[in-house]
Amino acid sequence: MLTEVEAANVATVDEYRRIPRILRLNVAGQPVDWVSWQEAVCLYAREIVIWTLGDPVLHIRGGHSRLDSTQSAIDIHSIIACNGRVVFPSVSVPPLTNQALFGRDRNTCLYCGGHFSDADLTRDHVAPTSRGGRDTWHNCVAACRRCNHYKGNRLPDECGLQLLALPYVPNFSEYLALINSGRILGDQMDFLKKSFGANSRLLH
Ligand SMILES: [Zn+2]
Repeated sequence: MLTEVEAANVATVDEYRRIPRILRLNVAGQPVDWVSWQEAVCLYAREIVIWTLGDPVLHIRGGHSRLDSTQSAIDIHSIIACNGRVVFPSVSVPPLTNQALFGRDRNTCLYCGGHFSDADLTRDHVAPTSRGGRDTWHNCVAACRRCNHYKGNRLPDECGLQLLALPYVPNFSEYLALINSGRILGDQMDFLKKSFGANSRLLH
């Protein structure tokens, strides 16, 4: 997949949205974050990108040289490892967001097994917060509105419900995949998958 962008001159908002994000690794090859292609261009221009993986996804054409009128160009790869300041993932436990939680549970209600869009899912606290349950990855699951309403303020075994899978904390690589779901490229997913935890539901 090769998209050509004319000197950052992207015509429509829709085209902006279609441009994939670039997976940034630190010098040790650990995934750190997603960056926009504009940020990636800056990293290339500052010669911070030390190696790349994956296919080139964008070909950026710059200005013409006044000396010989050649045009500068940069190929942006889907995965870039960056030198300079060593950036580590800033947190060991990824932030719990609904988007990442629903992604972890594969958009499945963990009580009835139905498949739902994000808009039709809720964050269910297995042990209700009113009874001391915490707002953590281990105590939260995706649940459809019907199951969440039915369960109410009870524990699953108080109302005959059973969790279809155990909640877990995704590691940072899995978290990066979850927050970019839908826009992630095949080679980026393959790279991240290598460092998912063994319990990751995205592997099965
Ligand atoms: Zn349900």
